[in-house]
Amino acid sequence: MISAPDSVAVEAVDAARAALVAEVGADVVGEHLSVGSESEGAATHHFGCLQAGYPGWVWGVTVAHADGQDGVTIDEIVLLPGDEAITAPEWVPWRDRIQPGDLSPGDLLPADEDDPRLVPTYLVGQRPDDDEVEVVEEVGLGRARVLSMEGRDLAAQRWYDGDQGPDVPLAQSAPGRCGGCGFLVRLEGPLSTMFGVCANEYANDDGRVVALDHGCGAHSEAQLRKKQLPPPMPDHVFDTVSRDDLEEF
Ligand code: SF4
Repeated sequence: MISAPDSVAVEAVDAARAALVAEVGADVVGEHLSVGSESEGAATHHFGCLQAGYPGWVWGVTVAHADGQDGVTIDEIVLLPGDEAITAPEWVPWRDRIQPGDLSPGDLLPADEDDPRLVPTYLVGQRPDDDEVEVVEEVGLGRARVLSMEGRDLAAQRWYDGDQGPDVPLAQSAPGRCGGCGFLVRLEGPLSTMFGVCANEYANDDGRVVALDHGCGAHSEAQLRKKQLPPPMPDHVFDTVSRDDLEEF
């Protein structure tokens, strides 16, 4: 239930200003702007802020009026951003801010202990909701953690949806798919059913993981169509202009 404004607290503009001036100095206190009712017996008075570098900010002085008292007491004095105030942008954790390609030489980007894309080596093959834990022996070649199924699925989806997937214009207009290209290097493991690595130095994707249904014009079996072939050379022309000269020799 919203309580009625306390008239003593609401009208205590002078007391609020006096407390504010005593706290921050008269030269940075502007005119009284508004008053808002707080909980029962309390109100907050707003004054303009004249402090250099704080355009749009307002002082807030909260006063309280106890039953049976003639005056008010000062609860708190704060500086508040108004609609026009310049404030810092909302904080975004660095992990959410960092983008692929942001790492410079020497930068470190440690994976969290509970990063869902990684699992301890002995848990390879276990889905988080599986009752049965499939424990396999040393398949991580000494690595403490390896890609989890979730991490693998995320990577596969990202690659498939990216520039090396089947939907990009390069692939759509290609004469053949990577799966049938002689320049494709096969992968091993579960990802091999969908991806390989392009090893054509003239292809845009040389050295990159490509979806088997990606493709490009540098496909090993690409042939120029007849109309794309260079025009045939004309027949030799018999030079009748200088024939007599030639016959002299
Ligand atoms: S050359 Fe083109 S078609 Fe062949 S593997 Fe590389 S990207 Fe795929």
